[in-house]
Amino acid sequence: MENLLDRVNSFEISPSALVASGRGVHAYYFLDSAWDVRAQEQRRRATGLLKRLATALDADPAVADLGRVMRLPGTFNFKPLRDDPPGDPLACRLLTLDAERRYRPEDLESVLPQLREPTTARPHGVRRRDPFLSAVLSANSMANVARKLGLDVGGGGRPAILCPFHADQHTKSLTLYEDHGHCFGCGWHGDAIALVRDLKEVGFAEALAQLSAWAQLPPPRTVGRGWKTWGVSR
Ligand SMILES: [Zn+2]
Repeated sequence: MENLLDRVNSFEISPSALVASGRGVHAYYFLDSAWDVRAQEQRRRATGLLKRLATALDADPAVADLGRVMRLPGTFNFKPLRDDPPGDPLACRLLTLDAERRYRPEDLESVLPQLREPTTARPHGVRRRDPFLSAVLSANSMANVARKLGLDVGGGGRPAILCPFHADQHTKSLTLYEDHGHCFGCGWHGDAIALVRDLKEVGFAEALAQLSAWAQLPPPRTVGRGWKTWGVSR
């Protein structure tokens, strides 16, 4: 716990509240106003902010789950550590509180390090194994798709765009690789289908139809349900 507190206290932004959860410490950074996360773009931005905060503090990345409810001071933690026999419940209590200490999301974003791209296998690799999807994706480079969506890709070097999924004003955080894009700000990650789907807020089928039209491929047709049943029309 000393270690945890050191990490939180040496971070350049001070928490508004610290709560001892019984097994650890929860650091809260109060916002100056309520954040409306009903829109997908705002949820992505909020999740990205939480991921970056968790990474900066070497904390549990599960806090980036917006639906998560944290332990409240005044309650008891009954959950034993793994392999430990159940012991006495541990009190969850407030350690410090400064309710006036408020932050705007951009204040936090400006000091948090960008996320590094995950190196694990990517889900869109699966799409490459479907002949039709593979043909559509091969015919639509990320940079071309971004241009067709009206995004400024710029010239020279690795193409990158201002990320449309978080408040990206200066840095062009969304890097475009040949077959996928990755935002080092909010963590958005996906292929051309995902870019069209998320930017135009359409379903997978509509995004795929748009991409096959751009690639001048025959329109996809379904044989049943789900993307695996799409095939090349004859
Ligand atoms: Zn982003």
